[in-house]
Amino acid sequence: MGRPLSRFDSPVLEGPVPAVGRIVERVESHGRNLEIVWDDGLILHTNLRLSGTWHLYRHGERWRRPGTQMRAEIQTVDWIAVCFNAPIVETYREFDRYRHPGFGPHGPDLSRPDADLDESINRLYHYHDQLAPVSEALLDQHVANGIGNVYRCEVLWACGVHPFAPVSALDADDCSHLVTTAAALLRSKLRHSPRVTASIAQPGSFVRGDLAVYGRNGQRCARCGDTVQVCQLAEHERLLYWCPGCQVHRSLDSMPPLDEDAMREMDPHPAAAKFLSNLPWRRSHPLAG
Ligand SMILES: [Zn+2]
Repeated sequence: MGRPLSRFDSPVLEGPVPAVGRIVERVESHGRNLEIVWDDGLILHTNLRLSGTWHLYRHGERWRRPGTQMRAEIQTVDWIAVCFNAPIVETYREFDRYRHPGFGPHGPDLSRPDADLDESINRLYHYHDQLAPVSEALLDQHVANGIGNVYRCEVLWACGVHPFAPVSALDADDCSHLVTTAAALLRSKLRHSPRVTASIAQPGSFVRGDLAVYGRNGQRCARCGDTVQVCQLAEHERLLYWCPGCQVHRSLDSMPPLDEDAMREMDPHPAAAKFLSNLPWRRSHPLAG
């Protein structure tokens, strides 16, 4: 910090390129998001998810990861900061800061007994990306803190909700059910060991001393007997375990059919076609049908 930028390189950057000569004012991290702020108000935002990492090197020092994994490189006369494998590398101006959809305070920590569940329910219901699958929104710390990958799978199973249902398909009761179940599971995790997926949603489907779906791909579902599946929506996404037999709430079958011809006639703009092709159930994953 405090030294002017002498070189910036990023093969994947979305947004304006940081200008040589500008000075890094500060570096902020919010969970898995790391932001570098230059003195002209430009902010480099990297979302590291699980795979991304930043390394700091001296000039001439050998990188500890292959150059092909480089997603952003910042040089000053003193050091080189290299970001590897971050799925998101983007820049925006400071005055746009509060418009960034991922920015803002984190949601309540659901493992705390005093967590404001209504706040979380509200954040899920009004999620900024209504087309995002519910399984993705539950991992967003701006909805709630503390759920994590294991418990998003367990919560969706406990509530019987289809993991690829778009947030827009959830009604207020669904959001409430998901958040209160997540809070109950997280708190029971703190009280008991080993982990227990409680029978909150379905009495009688209690999974003793273990998890219901997480890590159980290929095994029989304790509730319906179907086979637990695992999938990964994208290369950097975390594994999602779910039961296709009983996690059917808000599934595609329960959605109103989409009249593509009518939509094409209504709006011939290419953005409409992109919108349609980006609907969660049309993304290329093994379950698209
Ligand atoms: Zn099942």
